[in-house]
This record gives sequence, C-alpha cells and structure tokens, in this order.
Amino acid sequence: MNVDRDWQLFVDGEFVPGSTLRPVVDPATGEICAEAPDGTEADIKDAVCAARDSLSEWRSRSPRERGSVLFDVADVLADHADELAILETIENGKPLSQSEQDVSGAVKYTRFYGGAADKFYGEAVRDSVEAASRTVREPYGVVGVVIPWNWPPLHTMQFASAALATGNTVVLKPSPETPLSSLRIAELVGELLPDGVFNVVPGGVESGQALVSHEGVDKLAFTGNDETGERVLASAAKNITPAMLELGGKNAEIVFPDADLEDAVAGAVRNAFYNSGQACSDTERLLLHVDVYDEFLEAFAPKVESLTVDAGRKDPDVGPLTSEAQQKKVQSYVDTGERNGIRVVASATTPDDPDLDGGYWVPPTVFEGVDPDHQLANEEIFGPVVSVIPFESEREAIEIANGVDFGLTAAVWTTDLERAHRLVAELEVGAVSVNGRMAGGHALPFGGYKRSGIGRKSDFEETMREFTRVKSVHMAFGRSDLSL
Ligand code: NAD
Repeated sequence: MNVDRDWQLFVDGEFVPGSTLRPVVDPATGEICAEAPDGTEADIKDAVCAARDSLSEWRSRSPRERGSVLFDVADVLADHADELAILETIENGKPLSQSEQDVSGAVKYTRFYGGAADKFYGEAVRDSVEAASRTVREPYGVVGVVIPWNWPPLHTMQFASAALATGNTVVLKPSPETPLSSLRIAELVGELLPDGVFNVVPGGVESGQALVSHEGVDKLAFTGNDETGERVLASAAKNITPAMLELGGKNAEIVFPDADLEDAVAGAVRNAFYNSGQACSDTERLLLHVDVYDEFLEAFAPKVESLTVDAGRKDPDVGPLTSEAQQKKVQSYVDTGERNGIRVVASATTPDDPDLDGGYWVPPTVFEGVDPDHQLANEEIFGPVVSVIPFESEREAIEIANGVDFGLTAAVWTTDLERAHRLVAELEVGAVSVNGRMAGGHALPFGGYKRSGIGRKSDFEETMREFTRVKSVHMAFGRSDLSL
C-alpha cells in the first residue's frame, strides 16, 4: 500500500491541507513513510466551531436515525477492513493479525453503539401523585477526543461511535505518530455524517492542549499516560469541563500454587506481550508463589524466547515499538535492570534482516527476582518487559499487587474459588480476570482506579452515561406544591 500521498485534516465535512506537515515513520524500518498534517490551535478552533454549529441538527435527530447512520459507517469500515489493518501495521508496527482484530473491534463497536443509540433513555420517577417526574439523558454537546498511538482505529471508533450515538458531535485528535488510520476512516465515512459532526485533526501537544482547554468543548475523553492526564485535568478544570481519563497501568498477574500452570503460562505470555507490550491492560508484573516459582519460569522462559519478533506485515508474535521515543524509553528500563544486576531469565531475538536495522526493536525481556520497590516494578514501561516477583502468602501478593500508583487491570490464576473471590474483592483495579485473558469486550466496562483514570468505556450502561448528562423533570398536575 502506498501511504506516501496527500493527507489532509477533516474539518466541517471538508478535507483541508494542514499548514504544517509532520513525518510519519514506519517503526519496522525507521524510515519516513508519509507526511501528515500537523494540526494547529487554529485548526482545532475551526473544528470545535464546526462541531458546535452541527450540534443542533445532529442531536435533534431521533436516536434510531443516529444509530442507522452508525450502521452505515460500520458497513463501510468492514468493507475496507483489510486496507485499514495494513495501514495500522505500517504506522503503528503491530503484527498484522492484531491490526485485523483492532479494525474488526472498531467495526463491532460502531455497530454496538449504533444499536445502543435507541435503547438508552431516562426513567419515570414516581415521587408524587400530583406530578409526573422523570429523568432525561441528553448529549453533552461537543466531545473532544484525544487518543494515543497504540490502537488508532479501535480508539477512533470506540469513542466517536459512543459519543455520536448519544447525540454529541466530535473533534478527534489522533496521536502524531499514528494519524493515518483516523484520517483514512474520515475519508471513508465522512460523507455519511452531516458536515461538522465528526472532525479529525491530528497533531501533537499544541493541538491536544488547544482541544482540552477550548471553552467550546463540553466533554473530554482522553486516553494517554497519567502525567498527560494530570495536565488535561488541570486544563479541563479551568472551564469545569468533565473529563474521562483512560490512563496507564502497572498490571499484576498473580499465580498461586493451585493454578493450572499450563494455562497460567500461556495466559501470562499472552497478557504480557499482546500488542508488543504496548497495551494499557498488558501484564508488567508477574507475581509467582514461591512454591511454583521455578516450575513456572522453566515453562515460561522458553515460550518467551521463542516469540517471533519481526516487521508487523510478516505477522510475527511481537512487532517493533511504535516510535523511537518509546523504543528509547523501554530500552532504558532494560538497561537499568541489567545495570542493577537483576537477572534476565528470558529474552527473545530481534530480527537480523538488514532492511529492518533502523526499526524500533526491543526484544521481549523477562527479569526475575525483582524487588517490588524497584523502579522496574513500579513505573509503567509500556513495552515487552516483564518483572517477575516472588511471594509467599496471599496477603503478601495482594499488598504487592496494590502497592503501585496505578489500578487498571489484574489477572489471577487459581483453582480455589474462595481465594478467587477474596482477590477480586481486594485488588484495587478497574478490571480483574480470573484464569483467563484480560477482561474486555462490549459486555464489561473498562477503566481504572487510582492513577489509571476516571470514567469507563466500551460497555453499554456506563459508557452511555459517560457521554450523556441527566436532566430532572418535575411536571406538576395540581397546585398543592406551590405553598411556602
Ligand atoms: P501521551 O499521554 O503521551 O499522549 C496521548 C495523547 O495525548 C496523544 O494524542 C498526545 O499527542 C496527546 N497530548 C500530549 N500532551 C498533551 C497535552 N498537554 N494536552 C492534550 N493532549 C496531549 O500517551 P502515549 O504515550 O501516546 O500513550 C500511551 C499511554 O496511553 C500509556 O500510558 C497507556 O497505558 C495509555 N493508554 C491507556 C488506555 C486505557 O484505556 N486506560 C488505552 C490505551 C493507552
């Protein structure tokens, strides 16, 4: 696929050239593959203005009509799924089959929220026989969506479709590393939506800051790391703009001696290295009970060493890191671990293809015997690096798991039902999985405790609430309630 072509911002139903361009790099080679518009503050202002102007028309459509538009959007995306997956692999580096899952997730979410549009409403409240009281769910207005680079098509449609289904209009700012998937989605589906209802302005900190501090934005949906989340919340506070924050994690996977070890090993490999370790829900801390510590690692280490690491288009197990900055950051954690004498128990092999020499490679790496207080076991690395931590008791495992600033996900492996319930109750995270892959999908809300964020996405109830605000209506029949 030739991606080296003219890419433009999508504002008010029009494609407009950016005043400046920013290179997009193929992380497998380190070479520039395209140039994309780099949105400015003025571009964001135009987009917010367009989103405001289109609001009244879009929100006055019936929920069923909005849902029907989203079904059409989903159909077009499904028809172009292969192309979108290849595009994502080019700009993000991820293994092709994982890009395909990402795009199919984008289609499913679009259909899901299309279907949800006419099934979410207020409630009748019986507080008096002389009045009809009810609640109404209304859209916020303009939703500013800021997304990172790790799931571009999925994040684009997960947030946009929920916001649009509930009658909001959207200004989406993709990450400067991966702007192409979101821009291509706008090219494919833009004409299905009324002008101004969906706007895409990629860019870096300048455009992000302009969006989150704009007075014309009524609700923010931000996904990124916790430090940026802090800045976003501070900007939102100035305008009292409600913000949902989907932030980072330092997720623990806990294996007890009564676990099915074969499943636990396979689960840990999957949970740690999915999306090349660049998923917010990926495991970064592997807590092993001392009684199964050696046995687990004997099975786990060879599986990690045999992971294929290669360019995403060859569909390996693990691709490159998405950017040079990310590669340097993740490599610096590996260097710190080695410098501090922490034992590497497994390390996979990076590709020896000379065409990929400039790619952003960090091999899947497992450190063992890591002190829970060490930097490796506390800071979000966001790459294919796992710290193995031994524990002796259930209480100790819970304390280690909860002893970090984050609280996004946790995984528990045990066949003891009572223990499983205790862990679910005690782990300070937004999602726990027991004996399986990380919790997710349409059925369950996703979001974090502590520095992992505020708000929930991806399900029906919580997400529809997230993108609407409630109005209370009291309609009196009689005059009895007029007395002082
Ligand atoms: P980041 O915070 O650096 O950037 C995220 C987005 O914010 C980008 O679009 C960026 O351009 C923009 N941005 C940067 N500074 C800004 C500012 N001052 N104001 C407004 N926008 C600004 O994060 P990243 O490194 O791109 O993404 C990785 C992080 O995202 C990890 O911490 C990961 O855990 C997290 N993440 C969380 C979830 C979740 O659902 N909880 C999902 C995916 C990724």
